[in-house]
Amino acid sequence: MSAVPNSERKHVVFIGKRNVGKSSLVNAFLGQDLSIVSNTPGTTTDPVKKSMELHPFGPIVIIDTAGIDDFGELGEKRITKTVKAITSADFAILVLDANSQLSDEEKKLISLLKKLKVEAIAVINKIELGVNKDLLSEIRELGLRSFNVSCHKMLGIEELKESVSKLIPSEKESILVSDLVNQGDTIVLVVPIDLGAPKGRLIMPQVQTIREALDQSTIVVVVKDKELRLALNNLVTKPKLVVTDSQAIMRVAADVPESVPLTTFSILMARYKGELPAFVKGLKRIEELQNGDKVLISEACTHHAQEDDIGRVKIPRWFSQFVKKEILFDVKSGEDFPQNLLDYKLIIHCGGCTLTRRAMHRRLKEAEYCGVPIVNYGVLISYLHGAIPRVLEPFGEAIAAWESIN
Ligand code: SF4
Repeated sequence: MSAVPNSERKHVVFIGKRNVGKSSLVNAFLGQDLSIVSNTPGTTTDPVKKSMELHPFGPIVIIDTAGIDDFGELGEKRITKTVKAITSADFAILVLDANSQLSDEEKKLISLLKKLKVEAIAVINKIELGVNKDLLSEIRELGLRSFNVSCHKMLGIEELKESVSKLIPSEKESILVSDLVNQGDTIVLVVPIDLGAPKGRLIMPQVQTIREALDQSTIVVVVKDKELRLALNNLVTKPKLVVTDSQAIMRVAADVPESVPLTTFSILMARYKGELPAFVKGLKRIEELQNGDKVLISEACTHHAQEDDIGRVKIPRWFSQFVKKEILFDVKSGEDFPQNLLDYKLIIHCGGCTLTRRAMHRRLKEAEYCGVPIVNYGVLISYLHGAIPRVLEPFGEAIAAWESIN
């Protein structure tokens, strides 16, 4: 179970007012204590996440949030975080107290869920004390399906889990390479092992590509960039596809004959998450930049920056050499975009490996809303090194996006 990264799991968020039993329900749902349970309102502060296997649906992430009726300055910050957790979630469980009617905050939450198109249900907790009839009709009027539980007496929990498992929306399966290679083809994967490579393991896009190619009964050859030419010379038949780490694109493109399709792991991942055409279109902004323009470099996690860090050192250097203008770079990392997106002429985003599809999609929408084009590291690096359109050629919609801006 731990092999499934959180970004590949559906996110189920538990929301509601303070002291309705959200954390008790989360703990009962998980079958273990994730959240502190207390009768003092407001015990949960920031959203708390936990991975679990929800049978028969599969791997999910559970998120417990702060109460939406929290007060004061700190409370407002907690509510903002709760709203952000809802925005990125795939499914929401609104927890209600069986003995009360819907409050204004709860009604606003239901409107927000509808506006954001997040699938949701209501769970009425504390039924051991009786259920307010008006509450049931209010929920029905707002078109929300409801389930009764008692966390105190552990009633209705298993039925709820079974129902949630059926109600979490599933997507059509995304593809990395299985439409590009067939049984018996050879695929060559170029994995540079340099200072930036994690010790003793491959990164997730590499592992996922190997697995998908093997599932396709493809012959997978994995080499470092230095051994690529030797590996290609040793092959009896031409490979159907070569995939490389973006940072080695120049060396690899020089070694791979023009007749062999070539792309990068980053481009495979952007297509897998459905963002490739948007990132390709974002390239158009580069030629329009002027001296003094600000560019945001956005990383979705706060990893330890290395000496020759990709976002802080290499991309600004390559970019400045390419545009030959005085560009001002801001590097921001973390789960949220900064508030001042309008200050920027372009956003350069990392691969977003820790983000769910929905969270990455939300970022693209925010950028679009502010009218700021967005590219990702992989598409940009290939562009700056002259490998576009070559690395887009295996993908019709990416080539169409490229042609639309040229
Ligand atoms: S791609 Fe983005 S989210 Fe993934 S490790 Fe790099 S900076 Fe973090």
